[in-house]
Amino acid sequence: MESLWEQTWEQPSFPALDGDRNTDVLIVGGGMAGILCAYQLHGAGVPYVLVEAETICNGITKNTTAKITSQHGLIYDKLVSKFGIQRAKQYLAANEAALETYRQLCRNMDCDFEEKAAYTYSLDDAGKVDRELNALDKLGFSAECTDQTPLPFHVAGAIRFPHQAQFHPLKFVSGITKNLHIYEHTRVQELIGTTAVTDHGRIRAKKIIVTTHFPFLNKHGSYFLKLYQHRSYVIALEGAPNVDGMYVDQAQTGMSFRNYKNLLLAGGGDHRTGKKGGGWRELRDFARRHYPQAKEVYHWATQDCMSLDGVPYIGPYSASTKDLYVATGFNKWGMTTSMVSAMILSDLVQGKKTPYEEVFSPSRSILHPQLAVNGFEAVTSLLTPTTKRCPHLGCALKWNPAEHTWDCPCHGSRFTQDGKLIDNPATDDLNN
Ligand SMILES: Cc1cc2nc3c(=O)[nH]c(=O)nc-3n(C[C@H](O)[C@H](O)[C@H](O)COP(=O)(O)OP(=O)(O)OC[C@H]3O[C@@H](n4cnc5c(N)ncnc54)[C@H](O)[C@@H]3O)c2cc1C
Repeated sequence: MESLWEQTWEQPSFPALDGDRNTDVLIVGGGMAGILCAYQLHGAGVPYVLVEAETICNGITKNTTAKITSQHGLIYDKLVSKFGIQRAKQYLAANEAALETYRQLCRNMDCDFEEKAAYTYSLDDAGKVDRELNALDKLGFSAECTDQTPLPFHVAGAIRFPHQAQFHPLKFVSGITKNLHIYEHTRVQELIGTTAVTDHGRIRAKKIIVTTHFPFLNKHGSYFLKLYQHRSYVIALEGAPNVDGMYVDQAQTGMSFRNYKNLLLAGGGDHRTGKKGGGWRELRDFARRHYPQAKEVYHWATQDCMSLDGVPYIGPYSASTKDLYVATGFNKWGMTTSMVSAMILSDLVQGKKTPYEEVFSPSRSILHPQLAVNGFEAVTSLLTPTTKRCPHLGCALKWNPAEHTWDCPCHGSRFTQDGKLIDNPATDDLNN
């Protein structure tokens, strides 16, 4: 079940750590967020080391759909009403700056970068799209509304951002990692202050950036309350039309579309990890109905960390941890927000002021209805009697019949049928 990107990529390789080291900044986790932090620090001339438990991009990044856009569903109307105009502007400016940075980096790189318009549509509520347009108008951003798309169903309305982009994420990673100081097969097991204990030696750093997708330290920052994981499925179809753009339903369980060369990537079937959802069955039913001539050539699935309020957590790990930073909760928009993380965190570790910091602060209020949902899931799961329990915090695991895995509905850890760890925050295999 390898993604399209994995099957069309020449994976670079890096050595494992060999003994103890000192550095200024240690980055833990080599997905898109960690790699971009390393790239940014490399460019700034800051001594750093990145350690990756397995191989780079082997987590969520290899399974993304790689749309690079500041349009994150219908987020701006929500941001304006919850955070106010200034913070909403900050979010937009950060993500637009990220898009522009990708554009510059990809200019002379073989990574299939293409400029495309991004659309978020609603199947039944044109009012939501109008409200988003109003919010964007207040932020001074020029978007358009339409109810005409090349998708094979009617939409009540869609918002269009021009000049966004899509690419091959792993070819891009090959392009930027060539000279970076990366150690693969080196898992951080424990942090003692700013010394990391790995399975190949200790790294003494002045500052540490945690980009492990789900932050791996439970003691600080309450990420086990602030995050949950949401799973999505993707199929790649040959013989389906070119939709000339990137499309996403505003509903959390809706579909998404983009092309890559002659393929149409359709995403959907989403559900909270550990719960039931449409999965590939829903996508295949859709393809049979609308593109009966098309042939499925790849399929894969993955999940992302979702924050309480739809905004990532980027900045100091917690109010009580010195010299420790985090980037997580990308809400399935981790291409631009990984770049935003790199911009913010490289400034912070150098003691510089950064223009985008406040809206992403991990220490902002956690009072949000999603907190009650996360709490309810955790309590229900902890009280469910079953022998298969997650080694992270003891929640009852659920069998996932589509993927033959044991999945945790509390925080999204996943295990193979015979108990091998697939997705964090758990750090150990199951005790069978
Ligand atoms: C179906 C789907 C489609 C998506 N499509 C898009 C899209 O079109 N556009 C977009 O912007 N975003 C998209 N996203 C989101 C985006 O792919 C993710 O947000 C992003 O890839 C996450 O990157 P990351 O670096 O945070 O995590 P990861 O890629 O998971 O990297 C974390 C790394 O940390 C390593 N690690 C963990 N623990 C340790 C440890 N203790 N020591 C050392 N290393 C460790 C892991 O091995 C892993 O390699 C999508 C998400 C999904 C689910």
